[in-house]
Amino acid sequence: MLEEVKVTKVWLDESENECTLCGACEAICPEVFIVPEKMVLAQDPDLTLKEEIEESADSCPVGTIAIEFNHSGNRDNPF
Ligand code: SF4
Repeated sequence: MLEEVKVTKVWLDESENECTLCGACEAICPEVFIVPEKMVLAQDPDLTLKEEIEESADSCPVGTIAIEFNHSGNRDNPF
């Protein structure tokens, strides 16, 4: 049986671009993303919201939302 893919970490990755404060991630998934200035994570982010987290990362215009799956130790989503 295939292991279920779970989000195990989400972070702001500004290694290539900076968060532009556009608010797209917060609009899609406010349980996880908050944009008071730059994006920060909610205090106890609900990482079971996998689809919303991935949609937020895909909607980020500068690719600064990083997602780790299954404790890989890497950024597993594309920039
Ligand atoms: S979608 Fe990306 S650029 Fe926009 S606020 Fe969120 S992290 Fe920042």
